[in-house]
Amino acid sequence: MVKAAAEQDLRWILKTGWSGLCPRCGKGHMFRSWLKLSDQCDECGLNYRFAAPDDGPAFFSLCIVAFPLVFLIVWVQIAFDPPWWVHLLTSAPLTVLGCILPLQPIKGWLVASQYVNRAQEAGSERLWSRLHDRPGLSDFAD
Ligand SMILES: [Zn+2]
Repeated sequence: MVKAAAEQDLRWILKTGWSGLCPRCGKGHMFRSWLKLSDQCDECGLNYRFAAPDDGPAFFSLCIVAFPLVFLIVWVQIAFDPPWWVHLLTSAPLTVLGCILPLQPIKGWLVASQYVNRAQEAGSERLWSRLHDRPGLSDFAD
């Protein structure tokens, strides 16, 4: 039973987060620009002040895309020894686009995960409420 609920949560997180939709209603838009979160959901009014993905999108983009790509580029260089302009035309754009394009879906995934899992540092709710002017857990309330 718990496993089914966890799978359902994961599906919801992936569905809403990767498509930039509100993690509460699944209809409103999470982003007002490329990486800037909306202040609140335009459908249900969910306040996004709880969201603090910080450097997570960049970290996961590097781990998922950049590091494997660097190994591939080094392998191509060692195996085929292409001229430098091949890397200029292929490796450089692939690396830049490969790191930038997944940032929004990853950020959406992290924010949706944070909402669904009610993630915050254990025992620090009072401190976070003061620091971020949050009224408490009401931002997470359904
Ligand atoms: Zn919403």
